[in-house]
Amino acid sequence: MSAQNTFQIYDRIPQLLYLEIPPRSRLYFLEPIGTGTPFTESISSYLTRLAQEHCVTLQNIVMGEIAPVILGDKYKQEMPSKNLSSIFGNSDSKPAINGMRDKTKSLTLALEQLTLRQDLRYLSCLTWQGIIKEKSLFRQQKAWCPKCFEQWQREGKPIYEPLIWSFNEINHCPTHNCRLVEKCSNCDSPQKAIAKYSRLGYCSLRSKKLGSSCQQWLGSHNLDSENKIGDEERQITEGIGELITVAPTLDTRNTRKELIKKLQLIQFWFEREIRQDFKMLVIFGGILEKLKITLGRNSDKPLDLVNLLIPVCKLAKITVAQLIQDDISTLAKILRINLRIGD
Ligand SMILES: [Zn+2]
Ligand SMILES: [Zn+2]
Repeated sequence: MSAQNTFQIYDRIPQLLYLEIPPRSRLYFLEPIGTGTPFTESISSYLTRLAQEHCVTLQNIVMGEIAPVILGDKYKQEMPSKNLSSIFGNSDSKPAINGMRDKTKSLTLALEQLTLRQDLRYLSCLTWQGIIKEKSLFRQQKAWCPKCFEQWQREGKPIYEPLIWSFNEINHCPTHNCRLVEKCSNCDSPQKAIAKYSRLGYCSLRSKKLGSSCQQWLGSHNLDSENKIGDEERQITEGIGELITVAPTLDTRNTRKELIKKLQLIQFWFEREIRQDFKMLVIFGGILEKLKITLGRNSDKPLDLVNLLIPVCKLAKITVAQLIQDDISTLAKILRINLRIGD
């Protein structure tokens, strides 16, 4: 090799050294299921699926990967006293982990850091922290639709748990109309959202006394569909589904302020409706009172989804998605048409 050729190769080395290698994630870049739809996967389901993909138990992935990120510098000092439940800040790893707790945020940030994904925050209700009232909104144990599990298995689709099943008010599957189930049909045990041996679609119970596990498949076709789901439950189900669907599209910095303005506008139109026809007091009176209290002395508190926002939308003949996403002038035009006012 001539001296000139050698020089040319050395000349290229800096370029080779600076080739950009995309960052590698510590855990799989696993895509969540159904983001941007009413059937968005829950964060506890995602965590369980991630453990399954890595062929480890949920306990192993939490204690070995998630806990060091959540605890940071305190990891070595605190780890010996920690277990799966205490990592998530309560005695029983409540399914409210899919809600809007600070521990939900810790888990989500840890998972986003480890997988390098930016969309895991939509797998819980973190978007609504400080905007929607959390109390009583979420289940203490899992609920599931056996027909969904059965159908996904038959169709070869991944088994997962949609976030919508975590809500207390959702008692029926929106797809199959059957009641959601809360206990294993084999051992009668309720199911924790996060358990040591969680496996999606199967009972997670392991009895220390018996030294055995149930592991019953939780899917089934043998359920009666109740076709007469009440209007109120259907509206609540749709409202919650829309809340989950729109979360990835929002700029949450302004959501609360804008929601309050829109509710003030709706209050104005409801009052006009009553002034024009006093008989309307029967229809609008109750919810109008709640609106006044919310916008008055409770204006700094989170809003009640089930008892306020969803009924307000029903009376204003708008969807929850419209209330949240439409700008105020669009909403004013819609209300003018829907409430027949301003002629
Ligand atoms: Zn179903
Ligand atoms: Zn069981």
